[in-house]
Amino acid sequence: MSVEGPGSPSGPVSTLVTGVAELVTNDPERGQGPLGIVEDAALVVESGRVAWVGPAYQAPAADQRTHLGGRAVVPGFVDSHAHLVFAGDRAAEFEARMSGQPYDGGGIASTVASTRAATDQQLRAGLARLVAEMRRQGTTTVEVKSGYGLTVHDEVRSLRLAAEVTPETTYLGAHVVPREYVGRTDDYVALVTGEMLAACAPHARWVDVFCEPGAASAFDADAARAVLEAGARAGLGLRVHANQLGPGPGVRLAVELGAASADHCTHLCDADVDALAGGSTVATLLPSIEFSTRSPYPDAQRLLSAGITVALATDCNPGSGYSSSMPFCLALAVREMGMTTAQALWSATMGGARALRRDDIGHLAVGARADLAVLDAPSYRHLAYRPGVPLASTLEL
Ligand SMILES: [Zn+2]
Repeated sequence: MSVEGPGSPSGPVSTLVTGVAELVTNDPERGQGPLGIVEDAALVVESGRVAWVGPAYQAPAADQRTHLGGRAVVPGFVDSHAHLVFAGDRAAEFEARMSGQPYDGGGIASTVASTRAATDQQLRAGLARLVAEMRRQGTTTVEVKSGYGLTVHDEVRSLRLAAEVTPETTYLGAHVVPREYVGRTDDYVALVTGEMLAACAPHARWVDVFCEPGAASAFDADAARAVLEAGARAGLGLRVHANQLGPGPGVRLAVELGAASADHCTHLCDADVDALAGGSTVATLLPSIEFSTRSPYPDAQRLLSAGITVALATDCNPGSGYSSSMPFCLALAVREMGMTTAQALWSATMGGARALRRDDIGHLAVGARADLAVLDAPSYRHLAYRPGVPLASTLEL
């Protein structure tokens, strides 16, 4: 979903973007502070890449010009964790949860049943709607997981559809143990690491597992290790749903196996923090989930003060949190997790890029993809200052 360069038969067309009151580059060499801020800035985009960036008065000529009228520009948001291939609706489950009523709408099993029953075209339409919704809120890269099919056919189908909208596709056959395998987790892990993996790997960049030994339908350390090691042997990068519902082995397993990201990180002990600080695994925080399940938020400052790279992502999914909005996550991170707006913006852009092991997105240095989010505001600070206001949008050049 990244912006493509215009191009023409006579060669690439360059576009000079001016009227930028504040430009966040995430390049400390280029501007002020860790966000690399340039005030009264301009940039030149050519062939979908940033070709020049700096103060407007130094801007070179270009083939065409776009004037933004004094808005702020930030790198497009990198949403490194989302579940977008599904059918069905669980609004009633959310409403019951918020009103404190016990409710058994079938939870994730209902989404699995609806997803299996949906046609390709129905799933594709839902996915396209959510991706468009994200774009309208400034997201230029999104990772999309499978995990609501849970059969060989439906997991492959989910990944094929995801690959139509993003290169960041994640095989999550180990999302939950499906109903037909209850009491036979070992048999399901054998499927996930065997036939299902072989069929899915060609359509995926990553493998993920929901490691939560306290949850009956999730996976313990041994099962999670088996899933991740098999995925690595099949050439996939590793990601882990870890320590969401309670303490557990997920984070340390992620670091031990060199996973790109450990996601959730809500319940951490000192050994988990030490492991993250000593490894290369990004801690991805998903505050929309704590918001939507009315749960305690992760301790972002504990991670940041240990020098750990933190990413923010939506975890957009129909059950535990159905927000597609990176600005909403950013505002929650500031209001509820004590991050500064600068820390939250960095984590929602560069942090997400690190969590996807990408160096061409999440920043606006020369050579980066020209993935721009324009804010209808003079400064990035408005992202947290004005929560719920649709300030961000992507800029097509
Ligand atoms: Zn998730």
